[in-house]
Amino acid sequence: MQDCLFCKIINGDIAADVVYEDDKVLVFHDIAPKAKVHLLMIPKIHIASLNELTAEHNELTAYMLGLLPKIAKQQNLDTGFRTIINTGKGGGQVVFHLHIHLLGGSNLPGFG
Ligand code: AMP
Ligand code: ZN
Repeated sequence: MQDCLFCKIINGDIAADVVYEDDKVLVFHDIAPKAKVHLLMIPKIHIASLNELTAEHNELTAYMLGLLPKIAKQQNLDTGFRTIINTGKGGGQVVFHLHIHLLGGSNLPGFG
């Protein structure tokens, strides 16, 4: 996707502080961290949001979920971590390339 910020990061057109990369996903530091550790995990194929996920993506989805605890461990988040997926404008999504926020390393606020 030409006008997608995260596709540009995948293509190397925009720099990011990458902590993990393989043929399916990229994980990098969020530019405006909301916790001591705040990473974004994105698929290398352009999927706009959870709304665009289909059964065709099941393998990729499972792969990403399974990778999260490994990345958290690499980041020494031994007591746990939080994952967030904002979906659509009403869900607070700003960048329309599916991404999983991974937060931890400090006391995270509750939701209530
Ligand atoms: P969301 O609100 O879920 O769409 O989150 C988008 C996230 O992308 C925000 O937390 C931003 O701080 C982050 N972000 C925006 N531009 C960049 C960038 N160039 N590199 C890293 N993170 C970014
Ligand atoms: Zn994209």
